Amino acid sequence: MSPTAIPNLAPDGYRLRLPGPTFVPERVLQASAQMVVNHRGPEFRGALAKAEAGLQPILGTKNRILFYAASGSGMMEAAIVNVAGPGDELLIVTHGQFGERFATIAQAVGAKADVVATQWGDDIDLAAVEAHLKQKDYRAMVVVHNESSTGIVADLAKLGALVRDRRTLLVVDSVSGLGGIEMKQDEWGVDILVSASQKALMCPPGLGLASISPKAWEVINGGGRLPSFYWDFRRAQASAEKGETPFTPAVSLVGGLLAALDMIHTEGLHQVLARHKKLANALRAGGAAIGLSDFGAGQRKSSTVVVFDVPAPLDGATIVRELYQRHRTVIAGARNRLSGKVIRIGTMGSIDADTIYTDLAHLEDVLPDLGHKLNPGAGVAAARAYLS
Ligand SMILES: *Cc1c(COP(=O)(O)O)cnc(C)c1O
Repeated sequence: MSPTAIPNLAPDGYRLRLPGPTFVPERVLQASAQMVVNHRGPEFRGALAKAEAGLQPILGTKNRILFYAASGSGMMEAAIVNVAGPGDELLIVTHGQFGERFATIAQAVGAKADVVATQWGDDIDLAAVEAHLKQKDYRAMVVVHNESSTGIVADLAKLGALVRDRRTLLVVDSVSGLGGIEMKQDEWGVDILVSASQKALMCPPGLGLASISPKAWEVINGGGRLPSFYWDFRRAQASAEKGETPFTPAVSLVGGLLAALDMIHTEGLHQVLARHKKLANALRAGGAAIGLSDFGAGQRKSSTVVVFDVPAPLDGATIVRELYQRHRTVIAGARNRLSGKVIRIGTMGSIDADTIYTDLAHLEDVLPDLGHKLNPGAGVAAARAYLS
């Protein structure tokens, strides 16, 4: 009997160009496909220690790194439930869809959340945040570092300064920032930082991580009963001290992460961050040359995701569909109030200039047939000029 062929997940020529999950390099795929080992044995203990040491400079922290089998949203929930339960006051600073997710999580755990909502695409209004902080003694201020829905980056240095001399903690989601945008957790005063494997860290999805400051530990250890078992950071920390995780971790993904971290540190973290910025700006330059303007009025543009306004009378979903059908290029639209109005392209992880040129070439091919006039070749040429 012949074995049944395993169906491929990806068709030939498939280009995963989402703002996460992102393209996983062959080295990382192979490292993720190794024999599974005992998660409490010496081999895995060594792997966790290496993963922690490789991640700490990327986070800019000396804190322990806690690992979970989880998606990014799981880590967002973990961050909230460890500092707030029913009735606790939180200040949620939103500037897009993922910030709103934080507000939804806060509601789900019964916390009392005040929301400072920034118009999507704008920079966060720091004065409005400060005014709120002066009014109440919040348990934590919660913010998304890199808003993947709008392409705007929060100024964590300034936000951190606002709570440095208060009891209020700073809780940050850097799921789509970490590894692609500078993070200085300790210097900026980020108390709880959560992230996940499948964005700029260029790993398969499923590995979540958290890093907790001494200031946050005072709150977490402060006697409040956590409305959670799996997410209890105290348990994870106690295991981490023994080189373990409290529950079965995503063993294979830690194998992949070690390869990804090796790639990042071989290139050099500084160079990796500079490459992200350069390529994102090259894509913006190329987009501008074919009539795709950058979404939003904010100045703090992301290096890991580019969000373009969809030119009238086109529909974002149609562009996404055509790019896939003609070129197997998979980009994102929006699944929120911007639905149809923007398209989003990941500029994080394992990408280079050719990746951006190909994105632009495919856009140049598709857009005219949808009714958008452009000068063929102008996008690629502008990106090339920007990079040279
Ligand atoms: C992708 C992402 C998440 C997590 O999403 P999951 O699908 O749960 O992994 C959270 N926050 C931001 C800003 C993201 O970009």
